[in-house]
Amino acid sequence: MASPITFTSRAVGIGRARLGALTTPHGEIQTPQFMPVGTQATVKALTPGDLRAAGVQVILANTYHLSLRPGHERIARLGGLHRFMSWHGPILTDSGGFQVFSLAHLGRVDDDGVTFASHLDGSSQRLTPERAVEIQEALGSDIAMAFDQLVDATLPMAEVAVAMERTHRWAERCLAAHTRADQALFGIVQGGVDAELRRQSVASIAGLPFDGLAIGGLSIGESKAQMAATLDVVAEALSGDPRVRYLMGVGSPPDFFTAVERGIDLFDCVLPTRVARTGQLWTSAGKLNLRNARFLDDPDPPDVECGCETCRNHSRAYLAHLFRAEELLAYRLSSLHNVTYTQDLMRRIRAALEDGSYGTLREAVMAHYGGTGTRTDKGTVTGR
Ligand SMILES: [Zn+2]
Repeated sequence: MASPITFTSRAVGIGRARLGALTTPHGEIQTPQFMPVGTQATVKALTPGDLRAAGVQVILANTYHLSLRPGHERIARLGGLHRFMSWHGPILTDSGGFQVFSLAHLGRVDDDGVTFASHLDGSSQRLTPERAVEIQEALGSDIAMAFDQLVDATLPMAEVAVAMERTHRWAERCLAAHTRADQALFGIVQGGVDAELRRQSVASIAGLPFDGLAIGGLSIGESKAQMAATLDVVAEALSGDPRVRYLMGVGSPPDFFTAVERGIDLFDCVLPTRVARTGQLWTSAGKLNLRNARFLDDPDPPDVECGCETCRNHSRAYLAHLFRAEELLAYRLSSLHNVTYTQDLMRRIRAALEDGSYGTLREAVMAHYGGTGTRTDKGTVTGR
């Protein structure tokens, strides 16, 4: 089966960083690229028009959530996920594995699949590799993900290895079950933070005819040094593999640089939109917490360097007021800004890789975001 996506990339002489273009059935994606998370077929508080205005090229939607509610069969009857949510650009769906292992009340994991209790109503549900593929085919995303078993990366190596080997067997079953010619399927490399397990996982997953490769099991509380070292191992093991590489669940400004330099092309994370709803804005001058009283009299826009609707029209004082009054507009304006900031940062990273100013950009961003702890942000742990 010919791949429904094409990916071309070139090295730029900065670590393993590359610039690329990923063509999907619903449009082209410039890489490196960030995918905002639309858990319930909506990037919370934002319309598809808002996403386009922010420069978003691809979004992620959740198999677990959408299969439970409103149901993937219903979405298929209504014309598929693109039509249902009126987002006509590329969509990537995750396999549900992450949510099953982090959000559901886990019943039983066996070699065939996972039995769990829905977080909505406690009903017993079953997810297998075949079922995860069936749901994603019904949703009709451009890119589907293989069903994997996620475990805490800091567990004993033997336990991480068992989950990894199961993930490898499930990967083959996902490929065998996948039939949609207009949907790509990505495999997921696991193996925790153990170098040898990661090498084994790359050998297994990259040896299969997936359209793209993802790196899972990171940004779940390991140290930043462990994440960087693991990405080094994976990049080395993948060198020469032409497929697009997606680092799952990573989305903070410092982590983008760490990963881009190690050859990552795609990112997703709930962080930019989740923190926005708490009043934390990411700006060219660092993080602002608009719940802080000092902003109540501040007439400046959230970010003087940002051209989003929020920054063009509204002051920090107004947003600070909206958050205190718990007005709904606070969530839309802050989410719109943080998504725009994240997209602008990725665009600036691509431009800087192109024109040689990457080091300068990295230094400028790290000066505002680099000194905030040594642990990875737990971007995805509570589900999307
Ligand atoms: Zn803005």
